Amino acid sequence: MKSILKKRMLVLGASTLIGLLIFSPIIAQTDYTKVEAKDSAKIYHGGEFYPVSSFSYNGTAQAPRNVILMIGDGMGLAHIFAGLTANGGDLYLKNFNKIGFVTTHAANKFVTGSAASGTALATGEKTNYTFLGVDPDGQPLRNIREIAQGIGKATGVVSTSSVTHATPGSFVGHQPTRYMEEEIAEDFVNSGIDVFIGGGLKFFNNRKDGRNLLEDLESKGYQIATSLEEVAKTEDGKLAGLVAPNGTARKSLRGDVLEVATQTALNILDNDPDGFFLMIEGSQIDWAGHANDTPWIIEEMLDFDLTIGKVLEFAAKNEETLVIVTADHETGGLTIEDGNYKTGMVKGDYTTGGHTGIMVPIFAFGPGAEDFTGFIDNTDIPKKIMKYLETQDSSKRKSRRQRKPRRK
Ligand code: MG
Ligand code: ZN
Repeated sequence: MKSILKKRMLVLGASTLIGLLIFSPIIAQTDYTKVEAKDSAKIYHGGEFYPVSSFSYNGTAQAPRNVILMIGDGMGLAHIFAGLTANGGDLYLKNFNKIGFVTTHAANKFVTGSAASGTALATGEKTNYTFLGVDPDGQPLRNIREIAQGIGKATGVVSTSSVTHATPGSFVGHQPTRYMEEEIAEDFVNSGIDVFIGGGLKFFNNRKDGRNLLEDLESKGYQIATSLEEVAKTEDGKLAGLVAPNGTARKSLRGDVLEVATQTALNILDNDPDGFFLMIEGSQIDWAGHANDTPWIIEEMLDFDLTIGKVLEFAAKNEETLVIVTADHETGGLTIEDGNYKTGMVKGDYTTGGHTGIMVPIFAFGPGAEDFTGFIDNTDIPKKIMKYLETQDSSKRKSRRQRKPRRK
């Protein structure tokens, strides 16, 4: 009796081993390495708080003329709550009162990644894991930035990753995988986008094919800025701001790149009398989540929130701007085990070094904001934005153009 059981266990053990050998490459391909974060990385001991001002939307516009979509990559509710606690209980995000939940699954995978979810947020269509701007058959999908551009609006993307990374790339590129960043750089050159600011210089000027795409951009009338100072000086025209070879450094080392890039993009895009579409990404909330690093998450979360403050300041004054803040997915399976509003201390813990499938929050402000409440899917977000873009009154735009000519 005992020996039969032993034999069965041996068979079971062997088949499990074979199963693991067969499936492990698939697991390795789609999952990030399990992180064993040190306990010290899970605790943020507190720091300076920043004051938060109040903004409210008092406009009467039927539809937004400008749309600003802000994506916190990997930003789940716990990431927001970590930031809220770390800033003594306050965030610019608290200005939003139109709030909902978003499902994020990919076409072929329950737990998505930034390319499939970026594509969903940009085009309103589900696609496969790691596909960028194309459907599951590899066919290009039209995105909301392209639609906005098609009706005469100025468009831009801002990120703290390379601009060719999955999230910003989804609003510009169409490639079979997100990893083709040199090809996505070419998509930028051919896109007609007005402003892009982030990292990723090397995908333009240090390429396998030896081409220097900065020359192509210049011949198309772009101003090239390779430092944040040059970015900040630009007030109009087309701008390619590539301030790091690849991703920018973490917030404590890079400074206020996201705020300055956002302010510059707003200054330039607001010159267009037809309005604009701008995507702004807090890229590294995700990277900090992969690292299971609570202090880094808080750095990136508060950086994103300060940028939300800049955007709200613009939108509250402008009164024709819809601001949407959401995430592409959650990263790290973060939960908050302890915190202190007086000191800003936050103790986080994690269930994974990868992404999770949990719903992410969405916040909206301005004309049309109530459309983004309740339970929605990530593909609903651009569909709702498209509805506004498609109903823009062109005669109204023309009379506006006569009233306020382009500065340049
Ligand atoms: Mg991203
Ligand atoms: Zn990620």
